[in-house]
Amino acid sequence: MYGKIGLEEHFAIPDTLGGSLVYFTGEQDLRTTRLLDLLDLRIQQMDENGMDMMILSLNSPAIQSICDPQRAAELSRKANEELADAITKEPDRFRGFAALPLQDPDLAIEELHYAIDELGFVGVLANGYSQIGSEDNYLYLDDPLYRPFWAEMEKMDVPFYLHPREPMPCNAHTLDGHYWIHGAPWAFGVETATHTLRLMCSGLFDEYPKLRIVLGHLGEGLPFLIWRAQNHLNKRRRGMPAQKPLPEYLNENVWVTTSGQFTLPPLVCTMMQMGADRIMFATDYPFEEVSDACVWFDGLQISETDKKKIARDTANEFFKLGL
Ligand code: ZN
Repeated sequence: MYGKIGLEEHFAIPDTLGGSLVYFTGEQDLRTTRLLDLLDLRIQQMDENGMDMMILSLNSPAIQSICDPQRAAELSRKANEELADAITKEPDRFRGFAALPLQDPDLAIEELHYAIDELGFVGVLANGYSQIGSEDNYLYLDDPLYRPFWAEMEKMDVPFYLHPREPMPCNAHTLDGHYWIHGAPWAFGVETATHTLRLMCSGLFDEYPKLRIVLGHLGEGLPFLIWRAQNHLNKRRRGMPAQKPLPEYLNENVWVTTSGQFTLPPLVCTMMQMGADRIMFATDYPFEEVSDACVWFDGLQISETDKKKIARDTANEFFKLGL
């Protein structure tokens, strides 16, 4: 059972639930109950499936869809403190990713210090771009405005989990009339892969080479697609600021998790492109069943050495968990 550590394991507080109810079948949806539960329901499933620990984070979009920076800061603080309470009650089972008000990089840096230095959180998780001031105004994390934030992240050596969110409607007309491929079935992955390419291509990792980015869903398709992207950029760079080939950033600044990808072919592709050392276990609870993730993982026909690394050892070292 490997004493697995899960990295993409979500919770909510009532104030952050609103943005995700569009995906649910109503207030009584089991996912709502599971998101709000920070103790018994969750620990029972961990026990039944050989998971020692979950590193918890708010589900998408939460703070990133709160347009008012001050309100985003207040709710980040509230969510971080509620999570810290749960971790205090179950210190052997839970750790935390900080929610940050990225609508305002200065406020984000302030909350970053509070969450890491005071609450003892082990990383940051953001749900994609942030809406700022009005619903139609949004910023991706490659924007120059965020460079001081990234400088602080590098200085503090804090990992950053870039989690999916729905693309802005104005950027998603290819989905018009095809509601079924919004969200997790398709749009989340494309949106997040594109956001990651923006970070790589902007030269962010040339400026801050020690930044550590974590992607879910076995890299949101990038391990499969990145060779082709670079192959064509080799023929014509189109003014791209990045100094290195994109696969180098994937193999130096990016780690991925198994969240929501419980099948062998993409895992093998990711192992071949990035190496088993850059892959860590995750379920994506409660949007996936803990048992589905764990039964698949425990039965995988890969080496025991790689399984132990992916299940636990890499995360233990990466987040300095001291287990
Ligand atoms: Zn997730």
